Amino acid sequence: MARFDDVWLSELYAKNDIVDVISSYVTLTERGGRYWGLCPFHHEKTPSFSVSRDRQLFYCFGCKQGGNVANFLMKADNLTFGEAVEMLARRVGLPVPKAVEDSEYREIREKKKKIAEMHRLAARYYFDTLHSPAGARALEYLKRRGIGEEDIRRFGLGFAPDSWDSVAKLLEENGYPQALIRESGLVTVKNGKCFDTFRSRVMFPIINVFGEVIAFGGRVLGSGEPKYLNTRDTLLFNKRRNLYGIDILRKQRDVKSVVIVEGYMDVVSLVAHGVKAAVASLGTALTREQAVLLKRYTQNVYLSYDGDEAGEIATQKALSILEAEGLNVRVIRYPDGMDPDDFIRKYGLAGFAKKVKASLPPDGYRLAIARKSFDLSTEDGREGYAQAAADIIARIDSAIRRERYAEQVSAETGYSAASILEGRQSLKTEKNTNSNNRYNSIEKSAQDDAEGTFLAYAMAYPHLLEELGSRVNAELFENIVHKNIFYALYDSVKRGIQPTHAELLSELEDEQARSEAARLAQMPIVADDPLLFMQDCLTSMRVGQLERRREALKEELRTAQGDRKRHLLAEIGELNKELKQQKGSLGD
Ligand SMILES: [Zn+2]
Repeated sequence: MARFDDVWLSELYAKNDIVDVISSYVTLTERGGRYWGLCPFHHEKTPSFSVSRDRQLFYCFGCKQGGNVANFLMKADNLTFGEAVEMLARRVGLPVPKAVEDSEYREIREKKKKIAEMHRLAARYYFDTLHSPAGARALEYLKRRGIGEEDIRRFGLGFAPDSWDSVAKLLEENGYPQALIRESGLVTVKNGKCFDTFRSRVMFPIINVFGEVIAFGGRVLGSGEPKYLNTRDTLLFNKRRNLYGIDILRKQRDVKSVVIVEGYMDVVSLVAHGVKAAVASLGTALTREQAVLLKRYTQNVYLSYDGDEAGEIATQKALSILEAEGLNVRVIRYPDGMDPDDFIRKYGLAGFAKKVKASLPPDGYRLAIARKSFDLSTEDGREGYAQAAADIIARIDSAIRRERYAEQVSAETGYSAASILEGRQSLKTEKNTNSNNRYNSIEKSAQDDAEGTFLAYAMAYPHLLEELGSRVNAELFENIVHKNIFYALYDSVKRGIQPTHAELLSELEDEQARSEAARLAQMPIVADDPLLFMQDCLTSMRVGQLERRREALKEELRTAQGDRKRHLLAEIGELNKELKQQKGSLGD
């Protein structure tokens, strides 16, 4: 995270009113001293996204995300903290003084720039190699797959020759220092020896939204392992945050929908055959960050993974991520063992268009997958499928769609639609009677409440943290997110700073901690004597801590013997004493 001078940051936040900034993204209406709108981070029909001018924070009661003005831009525009700050500074014409960037940040930025240059150089080299005698086989391989010169140029495809050091040498000759070459990901160091990461592979440059080559994917030519190889994560490249094909998508206007596939070859092949927009996640399961990135370009996506078991599993995972981000998703299914590249080469764009037409909505897909694992010609199979389907149908939020699917499953299994819809009731009761679980969650939420309330007051009155002195310490927090917020707040107070809510948020590097802090900032601060109130919270937290310790000791006591047993009993006695005293001081 970039570091900026505290005073300069305060000025930046003061000049960029959060309501003004967010207004250009979300239509806000004032109600009850707060501004409300439809959340840009999850799909909703009634506003639960709120912005507070007093606190300079946003918080969504639906998806529980929140933060200050910089955090909003990070999420909305998928920026790093440093980029968000630069954007805010530009917005109000506040110069970002060189001096406010600490040297570490400047150094990292400089390195990133160099690594991007090295990648461009390598991409050019791979491209030239593809068109040289050394690349003849690779070029033929691409042509055989229907990929012409125009597509090769559009994607910047290339070939890494069967050599241990051609890229390493190229970078050296161009004056890049050895240390940086090793950090770039273009070479790999093993047992102190340095060699080219990609050898004898067809190369797919991974280009970010700014048009920079930031990494490569390589497909082995012929046999060899692994079949696909990616640049490892580097300063410049984080595979969770990028998508292959995003640069092509970015250049298009009015993108109606995007096809998400598994591999680079699928992207290139679909686009070469006339599909407008396709992207691939980079050798990982689709991530939330990638879904957010996609959402900048379109609301409609088609999941088009390979027609095998791995593809099905990946599809189900990706579905839940894309749905959670509020995207409209449909699933394209291929015959067993086929991938999108195989399919479009065999059936062409027209065949693919038919597949798109026949795509399934998420619930329909889940039912289709469930159906596959049962033999519907047997009684047991029909019952099993009806039960699995009842479970899937119960999670659908529209009553009409629930009924429609229940009828469909009824026709397939012979069970009545009513009993399929009811299956869900019996499931629910089962969950509620699980008393053990209920006990735990109530227990946990009491502790959580005490911690949260304490932090809400500490954020409103940071100076009181000092007055509480040694009574307050991080060990009292059981929730790790709360602990992190406490550390940030306590650290500022110790440095003599009483941060505003927005300033505290910019200290929090963890996104979960930021959202939780923004949620706590919404809590009403109403106690007449905040110090006394905070003391009560601390007592509750201390009681919780003692009780947890006592439970752990009791557990150990069940098997302990001799000295250890005597020691445990003594400690439990002490704990009981302090617990009695602490509970007495709570006064009720
Ligand atoms: Zn939301």
